[in-house]
Amino acid sequence: MKKLCILGATGSIGTQSLDVVSRQSDKFAVCGLTANSNINLLEQQIREFKPLKAAIADKALFKTLKNNVADCFTEILCGEDGVVEVASMNESDIVVSAIVGAAGLKPTLAAIEAKKDIALANKETMVTAGKLVCEKAKEKGIKILPVDSEHSAIFQCLMSGGKGENISRIILTCSGGPFFGKDRKFLEKVKPSDALKHPNWSMGQKITIDSATLMNKGLEFIEAKWLFDVPTDKIDILVHRQSVIHSMVEYTDGAVIAQLGEPDMRVPISVAINYPEREIIKEYKPFDFIKNSNLTFELPDEDTFKCLKLAKEAIAVGGTQPAYLNGANEMAVELFLKNKISFTDIGDIIEESIKKNIVIDDYNLEDVFNADKMARENVLSIYGGKL
Ligand code: NAD
Ligand code: MG
Repeated sequence: MKKLCILGATGSIGTQSLDVVSRQSDKFAVCGLTANSNINLLEQQIREFKPLKAAIADKALFKTLKNNVADCFTEILCGEDGVVEVASMNESDIVVSAIVGAAGLKPTLAAIEAKKDIALANKETMVTAGKLVCEKAKEKGIKILPVDSEHSAIFQCLMSGGKGENISRIILTCSGGPFFGKDRKFLEKVKPSDALKHPNWSMGQKITIDSATLMNKGLEFIEAKWLFDVPTDKIDILVHRQSVIHSMVEYTDGAVIAQLGEPDMRVPISVAINYPEREIIKEYKPFDFIKNSNLTFELPDEDTFKCLKLAKEAIAVGGTQPAYLNGANEMAVELFLKNKISFTDIGDIIEESIKKNIVIDDYNLEDVFNADKMARENVLSIYGGKL
């Protein structure tokens, strides 16, 4: 039995991870769960999966949750410390890191420190502190297994083609989001409800907005650099509207290895938590090539979707710049979701605020948290209002 902790268990990736686990109950046991505030769903999960520990990040909900599950043996914890305790508990073998945003960094690092393998969905961990995370993973001898579909695809391509000087480029595919091909004038009028309609994937709100602005692809560009230790000039981005090819690796002998399939996050989750084996699914449906015969590729428009350009620039600057970019983005997305700023303001405000960052090249964890905090404050001051 492999023992799993799931951080962010009530979210899109968290619930799909539990779905994969429940189909393989002979292989996996859940020993820890965490959530931010959805105590009803967390209670259901505690009853179904019977973890040893569960943590609710929002301390105000601790008493209610504890009372509601008083008949269960699960130990209930709360706050950031509680989440960190679950992330690093002795009993687990692998931690699914599926909290959204920079809030995932501390617990993920704690899990690495405790020598757990990581199934990484929380790309913000790599974006904000890629250097520290990779160094720590190496020092502790643990594996970081990608859950992001593009990175899982690359990981699977590299298993076949190998990793080294013979890689000529990594090609990250990008759905283009709901507004592909639209101009700035159109984007200025877009509402959160329009941006929350992703053509191919059903995901949490923050990543859905990031997919619409193309910041998601920018964050994934940075994530790929750290996960696969490749220079960014070897990472290309191609818009592929169908989201069937999840990403590719091209080798110097001219071979391109692609990983494809129907868009379904349970596949990369399963690849990560079952690694190095593969899951056997009884109800598995063969891929329909005829239905998917029309695969298209185009270049992204980085002038209209400037968030992608800003992310590329941030990793070129390096140091704490990506952490700052990420914090600014999280705050700008929150403002957009609350109808306080327009869709195009997201990129404009990040661009303006990033000029105020004082970059620290050789950074430590405290520098990352400071950059994140400064970015959020600067975005709020540029917006000029209250959240
Ligand atoms: P989501 O919003 O659906 O779920 C987020 C989870 O994190 C929830 O369980 C929530 O309770 C928890 N959480 C939120 N804030 C927290 C905090 N401050 N402290 C502790 N827990 C907190 O998000 P999601 O779509 O599942 O995405 C999770 C991560 O996976 C993100 O980093 C996202 O970029 C990445 N990812 C998601 C998908 C997808 O299909 N949803 C695909 C690729 C990568
Ligand atoms: Mg992705």
